[in-house]
Amino acid sequence: MSLDESPRAATAANAAGDAAAQGDAGECVEYLERIVYFLDNELEEADRDQVKLHLDECAPCLRKYDLERTVKAVVARSCTEAAPSGLAERVLAQIRTVQVQITDS
Ligand SMILES: [Zn+2]
Repeated sequence: MSLDESPRAATAANAAGDAAAQGDAGECVEYLERIVYFLDNELEEADRDQVKLHLDECAPCLRKYDLERTVKAVVARSCTEAAPSGLAERVLAQIRTVQVQITDS
């Protein structure tokens, strides 16, 4: 009685799978996570370049980046001086207005 069948034969097919099959949305999710670290200057230089490159080509991610950066700035300021309540909401509302104008033009 011989057992020639190897259970490992199937793994080679999985290794050949290509990331190119993934859609853009999956890629953006990865970048959106990195944008947070990018803002905190917690990325390696190579990663920073990748994020910058993606922000140049991807409008949704760039808008998200601008939004995060603005909110962060408002929060940082409110830590040092007493910011009026509702300031962050007003800033967000302004950003949305600008975004609508950009979309309309
Ligand atoms: Zn993107």
